[in-house]
Amino acid sequence: MSKTHDVIEMTEKFGAHNYHPLPIVISEAKGIWVTDPEGNRYMDMLSAYSAVNQGHCHPKIIQALKDQADKITLTSRAFYNDQLGRFYDKVVALTNKQMVLPMNTGAEAVETAVKTARRWAYDVKGIPGQAEIIVCTGNFHGRTMAAVSMSTEAEYQRGFGPLLPGFKVVPYGDIEAFEAAITENTAAFIVEPIQGEAGIIIPPVGYLKRASELCKQHNVLFVADEIQSGLGRSGKWFAIEWEGVTPDMYILGKALGGGVFPISCVAADKEILSVFTPGSHGSTFGGNPLASAVSVAALEVLEEEKLPERSLELGTYFMDRLKSIDNPMIRDVRGRGLFIGIELTESARPYCEALKERGLLCKETHETVIRLAPPLVITKEELDQAFEAIEAVLAPA
Ligand code: PLP
Repeated sequence: MSKTHDVIEMTEKFGAHNYHPLPIVISEAKGIWVTDPEGNRYMDMLSAYSAVNQGHCHPKIIQALKDQADKITLTSRAFYNDQLGRFYDKVVALTNKQMVLPMNTGAEAVETAVKTARRWAYDVKGIPGQAEIIVCTGNFHGRTMAAVSMSTEAEYQRGFGPLLPGFKVVPYGDIEAFEAAITENTAAFIVEPIQGEAGIIIPPVGYLKRASELCKQHNVLFVADEIQSGLGRSGKWFAIEWEGVTPDMYILGKALGGGVFPISCVAADKEILSVFTPGSHGSTFGGNPLASAVSVAALEVLEEEKLPERSLELGTYFMDRLKSIDNPMIRDVRGRGLFIGIELTESARPYCEALKERGLLCKETHETVIRLAPPLVITKEELDQAFEAIEAVLAPA
């Protein structure tokens, strides 16, 4: 039996079955290339759900990890550490916000945004009743109880009730519905500028801009969940820039740690994040020096290698090529930068399996969509190679 077979068997035997992975074991990776235990190489077109925008095991980020690991890895926030301030400085410069609150995973940062919005609504806005947060159909904000309470996916919620109250769901992209949902108790609108897990859904042009104007008008916080769409993925630093919108709060994660170490955060101005006082929120690992040092390096790589610009240029090129594949089974090819979805009229899973046989690792999302989101360090030649495999698999029979 192969090593791959043994690893899969052991993993399936002892692990809870909350994922349905493609049958491939990755034991090594560099840049966009991953290798299985038998030495077969594959091109990664998923980037760990956009957490590896900088490419696997980027030498600069790994060096930062090693250097910091030799010094100090965890202090807790009971004491200061000498890396967290550097991280804040970087995020403040990037987002143009005055304050940052660090967490570890994306879902925790979403929780933080929910708590911020609620406390801000009571303490600063002074709402008369229970705080409400408006969210969108098809959203994905993570797997904690707050995040699944915001969801419209039955399977994300089934058997997990009672859910958290205080969320109002409106159809994604429908500005009238959003306006109608605002009340005097509305604290925030939490939105993905491009919905990733829903299948790379881009809202109608002008939607985010108008929504942000309505938020200003009604003193509602506009919160952009850029955990997946941000940090260069969409061809801009933040996907919200496609509409020239400045949100009141950013939620960041995934590529913030360069795929090397988990780190997430929210960033907003003082008036908003000052609602937290000692004892009101925290995390043992949140803001640890190892994650902070890694994140500074991860953000520097995005900057130095101009990865957002690269994503825009190569994404436009790649999408044009993908659009040339003529097959009635392809319902839509859409995206921004290297954040691309090919929507089929049937299940995408068998096609992802066929792509794997041709050395391309993709994962279906929302049943019928093949998501293409390679590390942003990919070259044009490698994209051409990927295109050949995709064309072969999606060519009419
Ligand atoms: N928000 C968005 C938009 C995401 O895409 C994800 C993860 O896919 C999350 C939140 C949750 O992040 P994590 O899996 O790190 O908790």
